[in-house]
Amino acid sequence: MKSRHFDMIIIGQGLAGTTLAWHLLRRHQDILVLDQENSVTSSKVAAGLITPITGMRLAISWRFRELLQTAEQFYRHIERETASRFYHQRGMIRFFTSNREQERFTKRLETEEFGELVQRPISSFDRNLFSSPMDGFEMPRASQLYVSQYLDVSREYFLERQCYRSACVDLNNDILLTASGVQLPRLEISATQLIFCRGAEDRKNPWFSQIKFKPAQGEILTLEISELQETRIINQKSWLAPMPENKFAAGSTYEWNQLDSKPTADGKEQITSNLKQLLRCPFQIIDHRAAIRPALHDQKPIIGRHPRFKQLGIMNGLGSKGSLQAPWLAKQLTNHLCDDAPIDPQVDLNRRYPA
Ligand SMILES: Cc1cc2nc3c(=O)[nH]c(=O)nc-3n(C[C@H](O)[C@H](O)[C@H](O)COP(=O)(O)OP(=O)(O)OC[C@H]3O[C@@H](n4cnc5c(N)ncnc54)[C@H](O)[C@@H]3O)c2cc1C
Repeated sequence: MKSRHFDMIIIGQGLAGTTLAWHLLRRHQDILVLDQENSVTSSKVAAGLITPITGMRLAISWRFRELLQTAEQFYRHIERETASRFYHQRGMIRFFTSNREQERFTKRLETEEFGELVQRPISSFDRNLFSSPMDGFEMPRASQLYVSQYLDVSREYFLERQCYRSACVDLNNDILLTASGVQLPRLEISATQLIFCRGAEDRKNPWFSQIKFKPAQGEILTLEISELQETRIINQKSWLAPMPENKFAAGSTYEWNQLDSKPTADGKEQITSNLKQLLRCPFQIIDHRAAIRPALHDQKPIIGRHPRFKQLGIMNGLGSKGSLQAPWLAKQLTNHLCDDAPIDPQVDLNRRYPA
C-alpha cells in the first residue's frame, strides 16, 4: 500500500488537538488527527468551566477578555458548522467561604477590570436548596463547554472528511524524521509537520523533554439531584455545574503525587463534604472519575516548533483552563505553522526554553 502524505498530522484528539485541527482545516490544510481513544482523558473528564475569577486569591484568569472573545467566536462557529450546541453562557455564583475572602473581594472591587466581571447582589436563587452562610457575588460571563460533546461532534466531522483515524502512536518506534518532514511507516502515512497534542502523556515525549511539566490529577463526580433546577454554576469551596441529561458535575480536586487516573475515596470525600455544606437537598452520586491535567511548572500553556527538528511541534500545558485557552492557542499556532507568524512570547516554546 502506498503511503499517504498530509500537510500536518496531529497526535491527540483532546481539547488541544481537536481545536488545532479545526483551525488548520479553516486554512485548507490537508490534515490527519490520530487518537488512541482511551476512555479516560483529561478532556473527557473535564467539566469545561470557563471562570473569569478563580482561586482563593480571586485572581482574574490570564488574559481573560481576549481569550474569552476568541473562545466564544470559535465555539459558536463550530456549533454552526456541526449543527450542534455544546457551548453555554451560564453565569456563576460564588459564595464567600471566609471573612478574609470577602475583604479581599471588596479590595479587588477597586479595580475597574475586576468590577466589570462581577455582579452584586446575587440575583435570586432557591434558598430552600442552598445553604450559604455568607454572601457572595455573581460572574455573568462564566461559561461552560460540554467538552465530550464538542470532541464527539468534531470527531464525526473529521471522520466524514477522512481526517481522523484511531491509532496509538509509539513515539520511540513509529516516527522517522526526514529532511522534508516525518514518516510513520507502520501506519503508512507521512507529513510535512507532526504536532503533539497528547496532554499529560507528553511529559514522556523524548523530543520535548526540555518542557517542565507539573501535572495535577483531578477528580470529579457526576450527580443526580432531582429537586435542583439551577442553570448557573455554583461555587462554594467546590463547584456544582449543570451537565447534559439533567445531571450535575461537582469537583474538583488537585493532587500532584498520585498520577494514575484512579479515583480515590479521599477525593470523593472532599467533594462530597463540600457539597453537603452547600446543598440542603439530597443528591445521588452516579459516577466518579479522575484524570491528569496537563499543567506546566509555571502554569502557562506552551506552543511552538522544535528548536532543531522544525517538522515537529507541540501544543500543551492547558492545565485547568483548556476550554478558555485552546482556541486562542490553536489560532496562534496555526498562524505560526501556516504563515510563520510570531508566537506570543509568553507561550512560545523557544522563548520559554531557549536551545
Ligand atoms: C477533574 C478535571 C476537571 C477539569 N475541569 C476543567 C474545567 O472545568 N475547565 C477547563 O477548562 N478545564 C478543565 N480541566 C482541564 C482540561 O481538561 C485540560 O486542560 C484539557 O483537557 C487538556 O486537553 P489536551 O488535549 O491537552 O489533553 P488530553 O485531554 O489528555 O488529550 C490528549 C489526547 O491524546 C491522546 N494520546 C495520547 N498519547 C497518544 C498516542 N501515543 N497516540 C495516539 N493518541 C494519543 C489521548 O488519547 C487523548 O485523547 C479539568 C481536568 C480534570 C482532570
